[in-house]
Amino acid sequence: MTHLDTVKADPSASKEDIAKAEKDVEKARNKYRHKDIKDALEQMFHGKCAYCESQVTTTGYGDIEHFCPKGNPQCVNLTFEWRNLLLSCQKCNDAGHKATQFPLDANGNPTLIDPTDGVTDINKHIQFSWDSVDGALVKGLDARGKEVERIFDLNSEHGTRKELIKHRTQYVRNMLSVLGIARQTGNHEAIKLLLEYCQSDAEYSAFALVHILPYLAHHSRVREAIALLKEVSQSSPAYAAFARINQLSSLP
Ligand SMILES: [Zn+2]
Repeated sequence: MTHLDTVKADPSASKEDIAKAEKDVEKARNKYRHKDIKDALEQMFHGKCAYCESQVTTTGYGDIEHFCPKGNPQCVNLTFEWRNLLLSCQKCNDAGHKATQFPLDANGNPTLIDPTDGVTDINKHIQFSWDSVDGALVKGLDARGKEVERIFDLNSEHGTRKELIKHRTQYVRNMLSVLGIARQTGNHEAIKLLLEYCQSDAEYSAFALVHILPYLAHHSRVREAIALLKEVSQSSPAYAAFARINQLSSLP
């Protein structure tokens, strides 16, 4: 017998007691649903924030993020639709960042980038750059990219994301040190590690795709790297041009 059944069967229970027990059941159900969705999103996004690519545990706990925010008249029917849900870190989704922002362009299309929409070529709008002075930066290449940079405050060293910028730069610096070892020695373990940096479950893999994968495919001619470079190029013409996909045709 559930708690609700017990309350209902109790002749001394008031209407308020029953209403409260029913409310508790509903609350528990919602909590369970919420956990199911979150578990599925964590699996789908490999535990990474859809916006800043940090493991959500690096910057706090993950949030279920409605790309088009709840209550926005643009997407009132999307609130419970799976394709509107992303995994986000708490920082990217907090009141100082995306929260309920959902800017539209002159044609009424969202300017923010949904990394899962299957049509937007992220590399056309955003550059994942590195230099030894400024570190690892996510730079907007056009109005859409700049909007992403601004809303999530992805680069400002004195802004709200100091922790992210420090962690991301250290991570990419380590990755490039391994690249240095691979270049100098051709060490197999180093090459294996570089390939791991390029996988979608690795933090900041967008940087590895730009700074590591072309080297592994063109220079080291690692079979998995060539396959991955081709796969990424298919969904991103901007990346294909950068990664010189055409020059891979003569490779095995
Ligand atoms: Zn984030």
